[in-house]
Amino acid sequence: MAALSLYNTLSRSKEEFRPIKGKHVGIYSCGPTVYNFAHIGNMRNYIIVDLLKRLLLHNGYNVKHVMNITDVGHLVGDANIGEDKVRLTAEHEHKSVHEVAKFYTGEFLKDMKRLALMEPEIMPKATDHIPEMLSLIEKLDRKGYLYTVNTGVYFDTSKFKNYGKLTGLTFDELNDYLISGARVKRASGIRNTTDFAVWRFSNPDEKDMVWQTPYGKGFPGWHIECSAMSMKYLGAHFDIHTGGIDHLPIHHTNEIAQSEAATGEKFVNYWVHIEFLQVNGKKMSKSMGNVYRIEDLIEKGYSACAYKYLVISAYYRSQLNFTFEALEGAESTLEGIYSFMSKVSNMNFMGKEEGNGTFAERAKSLKAEFFESLNNDLNTPTALSKLHSLISETNKAQKKGFSKADAKAVIDTLLEIDSVLGLGFSKYADREELPKAVSELIAEREESRKNRDYKRSDEIRDELRKKYSVVLEDTGSGPIWYREMPSSRKH
Ligand code: AMP
Ligand code: ZN
Repeated sequence: MAALSLYNTLSRSKEEFRPIKGKHVGIYSCGPTVYNFAHIGNMRNYIIVDLLKRLLLHNGYNVKHVMNITDVGHLVGDANIGEDKVRLTAEHEHKSVHEVAKFYTGEFLKDMKRLALMEPEIMPKATDHIPEMLSLIEKLDRKGYLYTVNTGVYFDTSKFKNYGKLTGLTFDELNDYLISGARVKRASGIRNTTDFAVWRFSNPDEKDMVWQTPYGKGFPGWHIECSAMSMKYLGAHFDIHTGGIDHLPIHHTNEIAQSEAATGEKFVNYWVHIEFLQVNGKKMSKSMGNVYRIEDLIEKGYSACAYKYLVISAYYRSQLNFTFEALEGAESTLEGIYSFMSKVSNMNFMGKEEGNGTFAERAKSLKAEFFESLNNDLNTPTALSKLHSLISETNKAQKKGFSKADAKAVIDTLLEIDSVLGLGFSKYADREELPKAVSELIAEREESRKNRDYKRSDEIRDELRKKYSVVLEDTGSGPIWYREMPSSRKH
């Protein structure tokens, strides 16, 4: 089994990945809050998660991937006080909260499909897991971690040893950090700035998304959802937890505190945080008018896979700046790969089918380097450079002389690479049947060449390209032909 190393936020170092249970890996990803369409920044996060999952599968592990749907509890601004995001949209759109959550969950799943992301094995909804959250709250209560103020039931973070260990800050430093940047608003009556609600009391007029419980009438805090759902499906101690970098100081820090306080066990072994996407060098925001969705890119004529390629071309722990020029570049590069696939799949060796296949060995070693790079903390830029070496070296080798075995090795390598990248290479791996007229022209050109009638030979070559998009190339192992791929671009 290939060795994967991952940067673990918890240890602030790259570590060799070792699962808890042999070949089985449990991953929990903080999923979308379904109050709005997901934007391309959100989707960067899920593209990387999908890549990690596919790599683990390629490495031979069985993966159980859980991604929650937050349909209640996430407050505007992630603050300690404020309004529930889903409820607020429902008010604006004059819909019920259930309708809002259902609609945006459906839209999110559409985006996942457009990007060819594998659907997680389990996608639990917060509203379906209120009993699990309450039982966690009850455990924390029994152990003396909770106190009640007029807005809800809070977790006293000063009682949890090493609170904030994920951030690398001490308890006091973390409190100062949150206060100084006004990152959280202090709810009245709370003991520490870092304290957070596990249960919030609703206003008397709130009817939707409120539950009558022994802790009062209300709804859960956002962090408790992820603890309850991850531990329900993956156990109290599991392998990998992912999320955007913004979740590190508050959401994930609180997930650790309440989970470990309740179970007395280590919660998660590896914390993987994905950096943010910016647009034209700026934070995405409605007021800037720079919030794009996958659908916006498609409407402008780009493919969802071009965006995926753009994301993969950057290292996940670096900020990525989205521009339409960069997307354009990604689309061209991806088209180049598709046309290369189509070319190699359609190479015709005109009787020289049996070569010695020496390039196959080179393809194998480039493949190994590709996966080595990915296994090195998902170093996608280096991995992609190996893929491009494979393409350019194939083009060179094929000019000198190539065999059917070489071509097959290249195609198989690209398909294996794509089992992890998920960029749809397989659509271009089919061998097309040539119309009879084309094969007759190719045969005629061969005849003309043999008879040194180069004028006729060139005429046929031009006709094939113009009329049938068939390209003839003379190589060291004789002429080959392939169909030129038409551009699918609409912009
Ligand atoms: P939310 O639906 O707001 O909970 O966000 C879903 C996921 O997207 C979270 O893991 C966020 O950290 C992540 N996220 C939000 N904005 C961005 C961004 N601009 N770039 C990358 N990831 C983001
Ligand atoms: Zn979460």
